[in-house]
This record gives sequence, structure tokens and C-alpha cells, in this order.
Amino acid sequence: MKSNGRVAVEVLVIGAGPAGSVAAALLRQQGRQVLVLERQQFPRFSIGESLLPQSMEYLEQAGMLRTVQEAGFQFKNGAAFAHGEQYAEFDFSDKYSAGWGTTYQVERARFDQLLALEAGRQGAEVHHRHEVVAVDVSGPRPRATVKDSSGSEYLVEAGFILDASGFGRVLPRLLQLETPSGFPVRASIFTHVEDGIAASEFDRNKIRITVHPANHEVWYWLIPFATGRSSIGVVAEASFLARYAGDETARLATLVGEDPSLSRLLRNARWDTPARQLVGYSANVKSLCGPGFALLGNAGEFLDPIFSSGVTIAFKSASLAANVLRRQFAGESVDWQDEFATPLKRGVDTFRAFVESWYRGGFQRIVFHADPPREVRRMISAILAGYAWDPTNPFVRDTARRLAALEELCYER
Ligand SMILES: Cc1cc2nc3c(=O)[nH]c(=O)nc-3n(C[C@H](O)[C@H](O)[C@H](O)COP(=O)(O)OP(=O)(O)OC[C@H]3O[C@@H](n4cnc5c(N)ncnc54)[C@H](O)[C@@H]3O)c2cc1C
Repeated sequence: MKSNGRVAVEVLVIGAGPAGSVAAALLRQQGRQVLVLERQQFPRFSIGESLLPQSMEYLEQAGMLRTVQEAGFQFKNGAAFAHGEQYAEFDFSDKYSAGWGTTYQVERARFDQLLALEAGRQGAEVHHRHEVVAVDVSGPRPRATVKDSSGSEYLVEAGFILDASGFGRVLPRLLQLETPSGFPVRASIFTHVEDGIAASEFDRNKIRITVHPANHEVWYWLIPFATGRSSIGVVAEASFLARYAGDETARLATLVGEDPSLSRLLRNARWDTPARQLVGYSANVKSLCGPGFALLGNAGEFLDPIFSSGVTIAFKSASLAANVLRRQFAGESVDWQDEFATPLKRGVDTFRAFVESWYRGGFQRIVFHADPPREVRRMISAILAGYAWDPTNPFVRDTARRLAALEELCYER
């Protein structure tokens, strides 16, 4: 493949996160020659630990399901929501759409490493500590300049580039594709703790979302792992979090202390890992595809962490892109906008409407409503389980109007 500092490949994948590894595996199944370049050495920390059941379908497609099932990750079958005395649970197997109803909560350092190893096992060439630093998509074949672990640069010429660089946002930055997200600048502070939670007090099979007692736009996640440890984090507008003094760990501990039920659950926790902060992670692009390239996962758009939709969207984008590439390499004429960007956006827009409803407080009213009609609850459960692309679900077909009408009903009662 390599000669005189030049490499020629059929598909270059930038980044070995969930989107990159799944795309690489799917392309290997088609017999494509795939080069994955990852700037970090794995295992490396990453946030985004609660998967949705819909994501299992893509792990299955990519031949990675068994590896994940055998890894001993925490089983997950739903989501719990708490706000003061209010509490509601969604069981993801009781849902409108067909398909997986359970999944896992994963330490991403290990999960991402397993997927990248699996992509390699399936024949993708995966290089760590190789960073894409420049691209040129003006010619008939796109090119990337890569800096390797020794600091030397080489050129990759590809039949197609899939940018799966996540928050690295390689092509959006280098090709001036970035456009502001419609969401306000939110931030998150998070860490892992030895949680010390007694089995009788907490259902470890569910992510727990807690709404701040005094500000419904502020919320916490508690994501238990199989090891007796948990991921905890808080999300709020950056200006709200800026009011709290101290380092990240002190600020997170103060915020956890403001919610009585969460601090009760975490009263025996050992805070042994310094907390981190991410600010302004919501991002968007002018276009998800262009001549010779497409943007996968977070390299395209990232909405918000509230519904744990990030990895599912990353997998969905990889699956759609691999299908278009199959036809493109077979010599068929393809339309990336119609066959990749538009269908991907359909589900992203479903999640977007749910995120907007959450922050205006409407979706919280729906969640905590005492007696929702069973079928409506099953439709919402399907979206929360990641089935945001199921056109038979009225909350996918007509998301904003349906949500607004339901919010209205819940306000009336
Ligand atoms: C606070 C917070 C909480 C979240 N919680 C959840 C959750 O519970 N569940 C969920 O599903 N999602 C969650 N997400 C979203 C989730 O983190 C992402 O959507 C997901 O990781 C996207 O996967 P990806 O493959 O697109 O990108 P990433 O996972 O970011 O992977 C991109 C890879 O590209 C590499 N890279 C970057 N630049 C370069 C370069 N120049 N050259 C080579 N390689 C490069 C990076 O090192 C990285 O390994 C959360 C996000 C935030 C901010």
C-alpha cells in the first residue's frame, strides 16, 4: 500500500471511535481495503457510556455483537427519571418498535478498544497515534496528510474518506463546514466513582436521570458499571456551572449535594478520580457529505447527552454510509445527500425534538405523568430505546406536533 511516503487505499476512516470501527468492519464485509487512522493510543478515556438497544442491531451487522456480549459489561434494560419525590421508569423491552430491548452500559476506554481490535481482526488496517492534519478534496481522489507517532508526515490517497473523528471534527474544521448548533452553550462535569450503592437501593440495569431540584434545565446522570463503579455527571448551561467555585471534582460534589435523593444514593461513594469538564459540545455542519467524503457520528452533528443517543447515531451513520459505498464501489450512481444525509437526519431530528421538549420542561411532565396511555408510553419508550428512525412510530413521523400535543395534555391534568 505504501510507497515513497504515499499510501493508496479504497477507504480512509479518520478516527477509531464507535463510528469509525463499525464503518471499517462493515466495509471489510464488502471486501473493501480500509485504513483507519486514530490519533490516540487506545485504551483512552471517552465519555458516552450508556448505550441504547437500537445500537445492538449495528453491532450485530458489524460482526461485533459477540465480542461486546462476552466482555462482561453492565446489562441495561431501561431508564429511570427522578425529580424530587417524582420517579418514573421506562422498560425498553416494552416498546412500540420491533428490535432489541436491552443493551449495556460500557466503560468507553475498553469498549472502543474492543471495537477497534475487532475491526482490525476483520482485516482493517488500524494505526494508533496517526493524526490526520490536512486534507485536499479538490482532485478526483481525496488526499489526507498524516502525522505518525514519530512526527513524520505521509500522504494518503483514498477512493473515499469517512470522517469519524468525533469532537476532533477534522473535515468540518479543515473544509470550513462548521455551523453553530441551535442549542445554547451547555457544559458537563463528570467522573467515575466507586459508588458503594447497596443492591437493594438501586436498579443497576438502568441509567438514572435526576432533574435538579430547583432548576429543571439542570440534570445529572448516574450510569452504573458492572464493577461496582458508576459514571456520574451533571449537565447545565455553561453560565450556570460557572457559578460554582473550586476544581471540577469540588463543583460536581457540591452539585450532587444539592439533590437529596442523589446524595443519599452516593453517600458511601469513594471519589477517587478527578472530575473533568466539557464545554460547548453541541455542534453542527453545513453538509454531512461532499465530493469524496462523508461525516459520521459526532464529526457531523452532536445534539445533547440527555437521551444517550450519541453512539447510536454514530453507528447508524456508519451503517448508512457503508450501504452507499457498497453501491458506489459497484459502479452505481449514488446520491449521498438522498441516501445518507437525509435519512440520517430523520432520526437525528426526532431526537432533536425530544431534546428541545426536555429542556423546556414539557418532556419531563410527560415522563412523570401519573397515568399515560399505554400505547403512547410504548411509542416514547421506543424513541428512548433509540428507534428514532422507525417511520411507523407516530412520534417519528410527526415528532414536534405529537410532542407538543402531549405536553399540552399533561399540563391540563
Ligand atoms: C457529556 C456527554 C455525555 C454523553 N453521554 C452519552 C451516553 O450516555 N451515550 C451515548 O451514546 N452517547 C453519549 N455521548 C455522546 C458520545 O460521546 C458520542 O456521540 C460518541 O462517542 C460519538 O462517537 P464517534 O465515533 O462519532 O466519535 P468519538 O467517540 O469521539 O471518536 C472519535 C475518534 O477520532 C479520533 N480523532 C480525532 N481527531 C483525529 C485526527 N485528526 N486524526 C485521527 N484520529 C482523530 C479521536 O481520538 C477519537 O478516538 C455523550 C456526550 C457528552 C458530551
